[in-house]
Amino acid sequence: MTALEVRDLTVEYAQAHGRPFRAVQNLSFDLRAGQTLALVGESGSGKSSVLKALSRLVRPAQGQILLGGREGVRGKEYRRAVQMVFQDPFASLNPSHTIDHHLRRPLLATGRARRGADADAAVAELLRQVNLTPAADVARKRPHELSGGQRQRVAIARALAPAPDVLLADEPVSMLDVSIRLEILNLLDDLKRDRRLALLYVTHDLATARHFSSEIMVMYRGEVVERGPSDEVILSPKHPYTQLLAAAAPSAGATREQVRDARAVRLAARAKRDAERREIVVGDGCRFRPRCPFAMDSCAQRPPEAQLSPASGTGTGHRALCWLYADGATAAPALPQQKAAS
Ligand code: SF4
Repeated sequence: MTALEVRDLTVEYAQAHGRPFRAVQNLSFDLRAGQTLALVGESGSGKSSVLKALSRLVRPAQGQILLGGREGVRGKEYRRAVQMVFQDPFASLNPSHTIDHHLRRPLLATGRARRGADADAAVAELLRQVNLTPAADVARKRPHELSGGQRQRVAIARALAPAPDVLLADEPVSMLDVSIRLEILNLLDDLKRDRRLALLYVTHDLATARHFSSEIMVMYRGEVVERGPSDEVILSPKHPYTQLLAAAAPSAGATREQVRDARAVRLAARAKRDAERREIVVGDGCRFRPRCPFAMDSCAQRPPEAQLSPASGTGTGHRALCWLYADGATAAPALPQQKAAS
């Protein structure tokens, strides 16, 4: 069952001078119950604006958001059904309230529990589900008495309190110690499966995106430039931007040379990005053109259309927004560093 459908979502922000800044352009996707969909991109790619629109913090300039197949769901009903886990567990919990207060409040506000013993039991059950025990001890504490990982577990429990259908996870482990990131991601994965949650996992980390999602969307400057099954997108990236992201993220078992190559790619990408920021006119063509090692004349003339990558050959809908595949090409060209290394 499709929990969330997004159609042609466009988010714009007013600017003091000139046309509004378009942060997200014509984004469409479906998110099913029990599915994790990863949204990947650097800062400035539009990921946060997507989350703001999906959590109704900004009004989209155009597009539709359907919840359980229904359009126009708003207010309390929407806020119950779509919950967010924020990036910063230190800022997302009010330090003056106990953990019990943080969890009891949404339970009572959404009618998931009645005051008294019923709410006591519901708070304890939420804490048990996020593996914070003994629940009575944890419930009495305030956020500053917990570690970062424990706070993020509380934040997850709070998001679960209204029994949502959709969970938006905004870089949920990026501010935690490396040693506990996998624990938190495994917890989210278990909860998603047990509760049939639809999980949108927003991250800049390709490795965890691959591991914890069935499908990945890669965003660049407001547009999804590549999407497809997670393994295909990571192991066989088609869009040059995804290739650069993948090349800049060496695997855990990378050799010293691979790490050095990845660092060179990162530095080259940063130089390109700086140049791109200085560029006044990108024109009407591909937005990635200033950074693209494969840019052709035609890339400057009109924006690319999404092409089904013939290389996937699986009919699974691996698509890249790139003219490289317009003529039926079957393989992504090697990045300059990869060419030099081979
Ligand atoms: Fe590069 Fe052209 Fe593809 Fe854009 S359309 S990513 S500039 S090759």
